[in-house]
Amino acid sequence: MSENVDKYIKRKVYKGTNSRIADKFVDAGLEKIRACINCGTCSGSCPSGRRTAYVTRSVIRRALTGDESVLEDIDIWLCSTCYYCYERCPRDIPVTDMIIKLRNIAVEEGHILDAHFGLANKIFWVTGHGVPANGEANKKWQDLRESYGLPPLPPTVHMHPEAVQECQELMKSVGFRKLMDDIEIIKAKEKEEAEKQEKSEEK
Ligand code: SF4
Repeated sequence: MSENVDKYIKRKVYKGTNSRIADKFVDAGLEKIRACINCGTCSGSCPSGRRTAYVTRSVIRRALTGDESVLEDIDIWLCSTCYYCYERCPRDIPVTDMIIKLRNIAVEEGHILDAHFGLANKIFWVTGHGVPANGEANKKWQDLRESYGLPPLPPTVHMHPEAVQECQELMKSVGFRKLMDDIEIIKAKEKEEAEKQEKSEEK
């Protein structure tokens, strides 16, 4: 890390720079978030921001100043991880890695979109793939692979289904299974509370 960047990291630019979220970035080795001068180059470079209301600079600022609502904001899922912002940042801040870290923090705290949760909790856990290519339902992918001279299935758990259990053991050992179970409980509670609220409004 250059001496200059180190100086900016130590400088407290905003009140609340040492927010709980910013501290998690620091713990993950992403302390460069503190060097952000809020110039907006990331937002100006962002192809997702051109098509949606997503503003990279604002998301990073909210994380930096401890605005916890950013963890529940659907905008953090609009980044396509293209890395334009990272390439252009004048402070050499790994903006894309920060957005990914922000998503990790959000998920750890139970904020995950239903579609993503279904994919992680069911499809990924059961098949070992985020986008399965095996089975009759996915024949089009197998045909496509073959049209490029590849075997119909990739040399992963698809070709070695006996390894799925081993993958699940790995997922358990890194806490993935427990995280999914915890989120399932949070989601069930949220659903129960929403139903109660709906009933009380009907009365
Ligand atoms: Fe935008 Fe994400 Fe690409 Fe950065 S990595 S420019 S935030 S889409």
